[in-house]
Amino acid sequence: MNLAHLFLRTARRDGEAPAVGLGTRTLWTYRQLVDRAARLAGGLRSRFGCEPGERVAIVMENRPEYLEIELATWWAGAAIVPINAKLHPKELGWILGHAEPRVCFVSEKLADAVAEADPPASCRVVEAATVEYADLFEEAAPAMAEVGPDALAWLFYTSGTTGRPKGAMITHGNLRAMTYAYHIDVDEVAPRSALLHAAPLSHGSGCYVSPHAAVGSCHVVPETGGFDEAEVFELWRAWGRVHMFAAPTMVKRLVRHAKAKGLAGEGLATIVYGGAPMYLADLEEAHGVLGFRLAQLYGQGESPMCITALSRREHEAAARAGRRDILQSAGTAQIVVEVAIADEEGRRLSPGAVGEVLARGPSVVPGYWRDPEATRRTMGDGWLRTGDLGALDEQGYLTLKDRSKDLIISGGANIYPREVEEALLTHPKVKEVSVVGLPDPEWGERVVACVVAEPGTRADELDAHCLREIARFKRPRRYVFLDSLPKSAYGKILKRELRDRLAREAASEGS
Ligand code: AMP
Repeated sequence: MNLAHLFLRTARRDGEAPAVGLGTRTLWTYRQLVDRAARLAGGLRSRFGCEPGERVAIVMENRPEYLEIELATWWAGAAIVPINAKLHPKELGWILGHAEPRVCFVSEKLADAVAEADPPASCRVVEAATVEYADLFEEAAPAMAEVGPDALAWLFYTSGTTGRPKGAMITHGNLRAMTYAYHIDVDEVAPRSALLHAAPLSHGSGCYVSPHAAVGSCHVVPETGGFDEAEVFELWRAWGRVHMFAAPTMVKRLVRHAKAKGLAGEGLATIVYGGAPMYLADLEEAHGVLGFRLAQLYGQGESPMCITALSRREHEAAARAGRRDILQSAGTAQIVVEVAIADEEGRRLSPGAVGEVLARGPSVVPGYWRDPEATRRTMGDGWLRTGDLGALDEQGYLTLKDRSKDLIISGGANIYPREVEEALLTHPKVKEVSVVGLPDPEWGERVVACVVAEPGTRADELDAHCLREIARFKRPRRYVFLDSLPKSAYGKILKRELRDRLAREAASEGS
């Protein structure tokens, strides 16, 4: 069944319910949103040939059009390809070439970056809020496309450890399964609540669209198009019953703001956090300042938002019972998912033992776009290999110990060292490089590059080089010049040793 039915159901049941808001204003009701999206689907089909099986890319900061483009694409039976607005034009170009969308919607702000990305000739670029965009709504609305559960709904590009992004093929069936599990295990959402999109719709916040559309929440886009603490508190107050996704670093900033301004979170229903580890001290402080209004989920692009969860109620019960082990966990398997822990050979481990987290169920994607080898490696036997390390206890609570060692999560964004290493290795003076993440109180982790380079190489020239090659947020914050990199007997660089050494140096500098 087409995901667009979730919106249509709400439009029929409660058509006057606000569907999309900008700042404190309602822009469209559900009836209007569905009507606009159905007409836009007509434009997508007749102007660009967006039939079932085709793709529609979106390169925009959060803005209201995002939601009607998504719904229109599904209505037409095609799949969305939301692309991180902060990527470098080279990275954008690679994804557009790989996904081969029929059309790419851009905002005014990102139009130049997309032009520089040099999209394939088969992809038309249309800027939102222009005459050309408005013209797409002039076509007659087609009937909603019939699509099966295996039809592609969202091509979700995650950076791959091989340095190239991989497109997780999220189907209509995957998002529907996640939607059911969300309402049972993650959060209770009353009709006519608000969902605040302060995190990117291309990633963290975007997956929340289907469960919230299903019950008739209003999708509120901040005027700033992003995350601003003062604005978030104002929007909570203005809308009331606000739900939102926030990465742990965002939660920390909200708590700091609340303390500084003497606020307690009026209008907030739930913050669902995830995407990176939440430290216990930060969670307890958030409870103290905002009340028991936090829920956690653990998922990844390959099983969107849907592996384990710890609801608000469970947070409260665990805190009152002094069960800090539960607060430190990522909760238990969501209702549609089985979770197991395995060693490197895939043998199942017993409770308490640390190994790789595996997941299986209808939320797990069938594979990666045009990458059968990665599909076979990651979910070939039906079980998703998450690359995260963790342990299950006797009750089924999952504690994440570490993630696959090389992924760096800084400010909620995933940064794969290999991508940064490959960029640095194209600099003529760089001989060897290893990029690691070091703990950072503000960002969770920060990127540090350990470099073996020709004498006299300066950090600022490497920084300038990175700016030309990769997204700004992936650049190393620090360069450490070394004579050689520590290696194992097999010649593999020992990242853990590097991390430990840098952490020891930082500790002795601090003491
Ligand atoms: P992505 O595919 O970009 O959504 O990133 C998914 C990764 O983020 C997971 O594989 C984990 O390493 C990490 N992650 C997601 N949720 C949590 C969580 N609740 N606690 C700790 N790490 C998480």
